[in-house]
Amino acid sequence: MFKNIPRQLVVLFISLSLIFFSFGCSNSTKSTITPNSIDAQQTIVKNSATAPISGTLKVHSLDVGQADCILIQSDESSVLVDAGNNEDGGFVVNYLKAQGVTKLAAAVATHPHEDHIGGMDVVLKAFPVEKFYMPNATTTTKTFEDMLNAVKASGAKRIQVNAGVALDVPGISGTFLAPVGSKYDDLNNYSAVLKIVHGNTSFLLTGDAESISENEMLKNGNLQATLLKVGHHGSDSSTTAAFLKAVSPKYAVISVGKGNTYGHPTDIVLNRLASADVQVYRTDQSGTIVATSDGTNITLDKNATTIKANAPPEATPTPATATPKSPPPPAPPQTSKSTNHYIINTSTKKFHYPSCGKLPTKNKGEMDGTRDDLINAGYSPCGICKP
Ligand SMILES: [Zn+2]
Ligand SMILES: [Zn+2]
Repeated sequence: MFKNIPRQLVVLFISLSLIFFSFGCSNSTKSTITPNSIDAQQTIVKNSATAPISGTLKVHSLDVGQADCILIQSDESSVLVDAGNNEDGGFVVNYLKAQGVTKLAAAVATHPHEDHIGGMDVVLKAFPVEKFYMPNATTTTKTFEDMLNAVKASGAKRIQVNAGVALDVPGISGTFLAPVGSKYDDLNNYSAVLKIVHGNTSFLLTGDAESISENEMLKNGNLQATLLKVGHHGSDSSTTAAFLKAVSPKYAVISVGKGNTYGHPTDIVLNRLASADVQVYRTDQSGTIVATSDGTNITLDKNATTIKANAPPEATPTPATATPKSPPPPAPPQTSKSTNHYIINTSTKKFHYPSCGKLPTKNKGEMDGTRDDLINAGYSPCGICKP
């Protein structure tokens, strides 16, 4: 019977049904139409710039291996504190985009070490940035120079961080508590320490501040926080008993690389946190950790799991100068998503944790990435350290 209906009519009928069907389903697909939703979001940002702080505040501790990178996100603004190692720039940019970040109200470089500012140049090139906060500390590395050039090119307003300086962005209430002094031997003590307050909850982000800086902050007070980003990756240079007591956090996040050669986090810090009844989350065990505050409570994302200080340590605690014993304890199964630092053998095409006892002596290289990245690049995991 279709034989008698002109072909054009059949086509028209099918087209009409498709149009009708797609409109019928538009509720479920609307959210994927991005151009308009981004415009709408920006309008909201502008209109509510003067509104009182409300809604939720998210603090993301990105899994950048042995490094720091924290995204603070309110309903109105996004602020990035540190940007991981040099190799992490692309990952950080992609993560921010996935969170809907289109611009940064501010970026903070806590101090000029590569594991904090490495990816900053890439981030500054990828997003418009209004303000750039950094302490008055310099170094001669190319990484630092790259960052300064990127800050200049971005046109961001450069603001020097000292204790008492406010983080001036809409919708996020923050104050810098350090550096208190102006001259330190170790770059870590120049760390910009940022306290964010959201309703009755608060976050203390300490960079790599060590006990010298902690003691100075103790004199100034105002340290209490619901969540502490543990200083210097859990090194025993930081998180003194007195400092921890003053902060008295409910939660602690340690940003640390799996199998790192520094022995971070140290047992002494983990035990201190455990005896203070702090719930500890680690990026090497949980990957990226997201803490969400509604102004009353902070909730940690479900994927993140707390750890117990007395659980078998991952790396045998050794003095910082000692080389790890071989072979290292077998690492727990690793998610293919976490970025790590690996030692590679360019000849045998094997990859290892830096703590492995059977590292190559020649044809040795280094690579950062996820386990999958390494496998995709043609490398196979070492049978001893089982990365
Ligand atoms: Zn560091
Ligand atoms: Zn440092």
